[in-house]
Amino acid sequence: MINSKSIREASDVIKNGGLVAFPTETVYGLGANALDPIAVAKIFAVKERPSFDPLIVHIADIADIKRLTKSEDPRVYALAQKFWPGPLTIVLPKSDIVPDIVTSGLPTVGIRMPNNNIALELIKLSGCPISAPSANKFGRISPTRAEHVKKQLPEVDCVLDGGPASVGIESTVITLDSMGFIILREGFITASDLLKVLPASLSTEAEHAPASPGLLKSHYSPLKPIYIEGRSNNLPDISRAGYLSFNGQFPNGFKKVDFLSKSSDLKDAAVNLFGALHRMEDDSDIDFIVSQPVPEEGIGRAIMDRLTKAAYQYSEKPDKHKKI
Ligand code: AMP
Ligand code: MG
Repeated sequence: MINSKSIREASDVIKNGGLVAFPTETVYGLGANALDPIAVAKIFAVKERPSFDPLIVHIADIADIKRLTKSEDPRVYALAQKFWPGPLTIVLPKSDIVPDIVTSGLPTVGIRMPNNNIALELIKLSGCPISAPSANKFGRISPTRAEHVKKQLPEVDCVLDGGPASVGIESTVITLDSMGFIILREGFITASDLLKVLPASLSTEAEHAPASPGLLKSHYSPLKPIYIEGRSNNLPDISRAGYLSFNGQFPNGFKKVDFLSKSSDLKDAAVNLFGALHRMEDDSDIDFIVSQPVPEEGIGRAIMDRLTKAAYQYSEKPDKHKKI
């Protein structure tokens, strides 16, 4: 288990330009010193992440906003006070000390303070902000446990095991304009949560958002086909398929049943989603997965975003000849 010695050793790895996988409340991150471009390059290499996909920078002290950004927007502090530490990433104009590799050449940087004591301690002891995407191969299922990290990234020596993630899906990513906030990626914190802090916001629709590279149609995918129930007409024989239930019910005939929730609870579904997908991926009795959809309200929007992207390459779509 984790103790202060293991976090200190991990912080030495960060200080020496190495990589550390660590727990956050959303998913496990693969971290490096955000101010060291050579260390950050190792993240892209290990994850096989395309260089156009910018990294989120994790901080443990609100004062770091001043160092890392050119923003003096008081709304940032209002949001930070309400939602940090927590699963909200705010994209702001970057300062010169943030290397271009972190932001994929963009003039902005995404910043958040994770709500996990191991992560916060690691950042503090390392003495630098830590850039960290999810600790998985690019495009595959995100890790919500240390075992998931070891499965996909066995070459990462330093993995801090903090048990299962308490939120289970990635942070909400927003930016600010003169009208209010714009959601770039759905997550645990919803538009209605944000409206409580910035009530005058008018533009919350992603269609009006500036480009957020890295948001591809296909992502979070298990190594097996996955279908969303009701959205695919010609399912193969289900006797070797796994079923993910949201409301506790399941049809007969499936080889295995796993649960996002047993009682249609969206928070349970967020916590369980990636773990259930990993179990299905690892199960040699299962050839493909069928998931119940969840209602696209509140955090359900973020869950359906992940499920739809996981299923994208197997869904029947009008634009299937388009490059994704
Ligand atoms: P993750 O893969 O969880 O590390 O999330 C990173 C995602 O946050 C990227 O794929 C982008 O969609 C978004 N993001 C990070 N930094 C920026 C930025 N500077 N501008 C716009 N979107 C960003
Ligand atoms: Mg990711």
